[in-house]
Amino acid sequence: MTPLPPGSTIGILGGGQLGRMLSQAASRLGFNVVILDPEENSPAGRVSQGQIVAAYDDSTALMVLGRTCQAVTFEFENVPAASVERLLQGGAAVSPGPRALAVAQDRVEEKTFLNGVGAPTVAFASVDSLDDLLAGLERLGAPALLKTRREGYDGKGQVWVRSAKMAADAWHAIGEQPAILEAKADFVRELSVIAARGRDGRIAVYPLGENIHKGGVLKTTVAPATVDAKTEKRARAIAKAILEGLDYIGVLGVELFDLGEGRLLVNEIAPRVHNTGHWTQDGCVCDQFEQHIRAIAGWPLGPVTAHARVQMTNLLGTDIDQWAKLAAKPDHRLHLYGKAEARPGRKMAHVNRITPL
Ligand code: AMP
Repeated sequence: MTPLPPGSTIGILGGGQLGRMLSQAASRLGFNVVILDPEENSPAGRVSQGQIVAAYDDSTALMVLGRTCQAVTFEFENVPAASVERLLQGGAAVSPGPRALAVAQDRVEEKTFLNGVGAPTVAFASVDSLDDLLAGLERLGAPALLKTRREGYDGKGQVWVRSAKMAADAWHAIGEQPAILEAKADFVRELSVIAARGRDGRIAVYPLGENIHKGGVLKTTVAPATVDAKTEKRARAIAKAILEGLDYIGVLGVELFDLGEGRLLVNEIAPRVHNTGHWTQDGCVCDQFEQHIRAIAGWPLGPVTAHARVQMTNLLGTDIDQWAKLAAKPDHRLHLYGKAEARPGRKMAHVNRITPL
């Protein structure tokens, strides 16, 4: 594909904050953006040329999006796979592709793929019944973490199973649906790596981030993380293996468990720009949003070196009320998502505290 020229139109499935920041980056590169999201006036829709307000599986909406846009992408991994197939059948250039989506939508497929490309994960068992859960618990040992195979995010649809006695309750708690049982990762900390692959097959990997979660939701990322050379090298090799294994185009987030001494396990992958990559907006020459747009548009990838250390903090729910105080701090850069309603736990904004390197 020849590079998409400025003035072309990019379609984004999903109108949340990730879509918004992608749209802003695309706009800076001279592209027009159309958002597809069922919610009217979405955060991304409000900064874009247009928004189609329709369900993600609305065939007319998909047809219009495909005909209007020279490249299509998505901001979340739970877009219906059938919608991506429909767009592709209509001749649209959708990236990342359906394989990345299928792998990221199902935790069993994901771990099977990862182990297949040499990216280690915790031991796991596929669970379709209470008997499977009991057998898995026997094999993996307690405690183990039961997660729904599909649709889980930010710690939702997950329950720790601490003994065989708890199994029935845990199975009930996740709605008795197809699940995965994961051995407990004894990590010393959580890291992540954001990487991109262009249409020419070139790969760019950002410095690692160190992440702190609270209640299953990301609270802060510090990047570049302080890591030894072995850990950095291992993380880069894992990211490369995943990108190549999926023949991936775009930015990918890889969440890692650091077991110490350069040993890493992959927790999960996100086939999109990632919350733990928001630090790149104020720490790198080319941030993850521009990088993703460059990749899907067939442009050369941008530089990924860091010029600042950044502490990124998510502002959830009423944390947003501190905006004026935070805006007054000279080393803080505020990124607000334009969401009207500060529901508890809702990601409203993030702030990057910058220390030049
Ligand atoms: P996830 O939604 O899979 O990213 O999980 C959310 C958080 O739960 C992770 O960031 C970890 O802090 C924790 N977690 C997930 N899986 C495991 C595991 N197998 N062992 C220990 N902690 C885990």
